[in-house]
Amino acid sequence: MEESSDDLIQKILVTKPIKPNIQEFSHYVQQIIESNWFTNFGKFHNLLQARLKSVLGVDNLSLVNNGTSALIVGIKSLELPEKSEVITTPFTFAATCHSIIWNNLVPVFCDIEPNTFTIDVNKIESLINKNTSAILGVHVYGYPCNVTKIKEIADKYGLKVIYDAAHSFGSVLNGKSIGCYGDIVAYSFHATKLFNTIEGGAIVSNNQNNLSKIHSLINFGIVDQDNVNSVGINAKLNEVCAAWGLSNLESYKEEYEKRKKVYSIYYDSLKNLRNVYVPDFPPNCSNSFQYFPVLLKNAESRELVLHELSIHNIYARKYFSPICSDFLPYNSIKGREFLKVSNDYKNRILCLPFYGDIPEHSLNNIIHTISKFSL
Ligand SMILES: *Cc1c(COP(=O)(O)O)cnc(C)c1O
Repeated sequence: MEESSDDLIQKILVTKPIKPNIQEFSHYVQQIIESNWFTNFGKFHNLLQARLKSVLGVDNLSLVNNGTSALIVGIKSLELPEKSEVITTPFTFAATCHSIIWNNLVPVFCDIEPNTFTIDVNKIESLINKNTSAILGVHVYGYPCNVTKIKEIADKYGLKVIYDAAHSFGSVLNGKSIGCYGDIVAYSFHATKLFNTIEGGAIVSNNQNNLSKIHSLINFGIVDQDNVNSVGINAKLNEVCAAWGLSNLESYKEEYEKRKKVYSIYYDSLKNLRNVYVPDFPPNCSNSFQYFPVLLKNAESRELVLHELSIHNIYARKYFSPICSDFLPYNSIKGREFLKVSNDYKNRILCLPFYGDIPEHSLNNIIHTISKFSL
């Protein structure tokens, strides 16, 4: 394989952020500078909010400064009883569980379903007791939780439902936006997410009564000039990040189409390997093209793949390993030994470098390496 010196020093990471058209973005920044209005629900905030409502197919959406704020404020708006329990998945990014603790609630880990890595709906009910107040599911890698069954359980026991949709920008499930399922849905627009505002996020509330509460919680609990009615926080999205996001909507569309192609190359090459599991998207859900996860045969083969790739300056990532129940703030929580699938998968999971303009030779290299260690 021929490689230029440029390619040799180029590191292939798990993702590469999309960026806005520089002329368009500069033009926006100029307007922001001239307007003397840099944050506090300004023009670009409002433009982005309107565009995202339509792109994501949701009735309402509150922009925030990051996805963690979206989770924290979204949960806060539900006013769950203090110290009540929230059933969630350990197979996610730390921010999911942290958002429960930041709300003075208690996370209870439920194992994941082997096919899609999402919270196992057959194990939720056994974890419910009189202190349970909510279920927090994660549409991990964009694979949708079993929203129908979760709603059924939540209705039966009077629980709230929160979804972490950080990996599910643009996902459509059963002809509706993924944002339409659950009481609260949190999106992240971090630089590593397919659509980014550098740092940013959004809260969708499927209860209209909650909207003004969320709006004020984002802004210190302020309701008007004379009244602060709740212990809010500052989670506002500033104008420069909003303008970046607005410009990035074009780049997002292009990147999405490119990733679709990369996805099918990976899929066609890896799907039928004997010791590699590539989870399929259910036919009723679109792929968000956020990650390309594969489950390898065992921990050893994963180390071999990682090592071999690193020799070629390719860095796949062990998302999610360790899992949340391994982290110091959570490792004394009861029931960790029941997380059989999560604890097995964390040793075998690998997220492959996945972005639109990944060089073809790197792609081939990755496919070759995985095939070699998957016999
Ligand atoms: C990225 C991410 C978050 C946090 O979002 P930030 O915007 O980085 O705060 C939360 N949950 C999951 C699953 C994520 O991947």
